[in-house]
Amino acid sequence: MFNALMDGDGSFSGGWTYSTSSKKLADNFQELLLKIGYSCSISNSRGDEYVVSINRKSTTPFLNCGQDCEGRSWEDYRGEVYCLEVPNHTLYVRRNGKACWCGNSDPPMNWRLSTLDKLALVSNSDSHSSWPWRIGREANVFELERLTYQEVIDAIRKRDPTRFKFTIETDPAYGKYHWTGHRNCNVSLSPQEAIKLGNRCPVCHKRLTKGVEQRVEELADRPMGFKPEGAIGYLHLLPLSEIIGTVFGITYPGVQKVWSIYNSLVARFGDEYTVLMDAPKEEISKIVDPKIAEAIVRVREGRVKITPGYDGVYGQLVIFEEKKEAPPLEKVKQRSITDFLL
Ligand SMILES: [Zn+2]
Repeated sequence: MFNALMDGDGSFSGGWTYSTSSKKLADNFQELLLKIGYSCSISNSRGDEYVVSINRKSTTPFLNCGQDCEGRSWEDYRGEVYCLEVPNHTLYVRRNGKACWCGNSDPPMNWRLSTLDKLALVSNSDSHSSWPWRIGREANVFELERLTYQEVIDAIRKRDPTRFKFTIETDPAYGKYHWTGHRNCNVSLSPQEAIKLGNRCPVCHKRLTKGVEQRVEELADRPMGFKPEGAIGYLHLLPLSEIIGTVFGITYPGVQKVWSIYNSLVARFGDEYTVLMDAPKEEISKIVDPKIAEAIVRVREGRVKITPGYDGVYGQLVIFEEKKEAPPLEKVKQRSITDFLL
């Protein structure tokens, strides 16, 4: 496609460029370039012609804060706020004509990159489908004297752990591209294993589809598990309906059996987060199957295993393994919620 378009309206003299009178075509061409590993910018100086300048070398992502990064100031914002999510957690974002791939990440991933230390990390509702039970599965937890915009924004800006207590996260291992692998060959590899194999599939010997964790490994300048001084803590949770569904082996939680249990728990404890984070196991067991109580506590304490997603295959939650002792999380060991409180 690239060659055909360049044969038509492209120019290889000097810097590579592509010209068109169609804005839509210029936009599509920009997306195509990003997909084949080039970056580009679009100019429209003559009004009726869009010139796409192709950059074949400078394709490494960087934090675009230039030299004045330290001098930046906060500005209050009063417009609309959007939450965007797509199934593979990878977004195509364009700002001021510059396009890049962008993805959802987890605090432990961000902590490994020292250039991100100056940013306050927040986690907002990650709802990549129309199912309401996924709304609010990621959140920021504050403890404020007064619930006002100023108090919230001030706690974030100052990264004050007495007011900005922690964030709630969905484990990124659920993502469809967390590990490196080949869906058709049934091959799923950790970054270390993939690198050892030269990123070649041990079955078909073709290049593997690289996962997010391996990309983090490439960008990171700190070891796995590193936590910067003063970073706000986090807790991995899952929607209650999905925990109940998993206990019964139900993959789609929108069924009556799941919701009747869900509603009885919320009615007893007040809201879903209280059930997930605070409700005592014995109290939960009084109104629902003790196996559900056990599952809720295991998620709360990070004592569940997630088989990471790879090459388009979703990650899977394993709450109960046949072994007597549940193994600790393989990657970042999760702490109890009380570790985040004073
Ligand atoms: Zn393969």
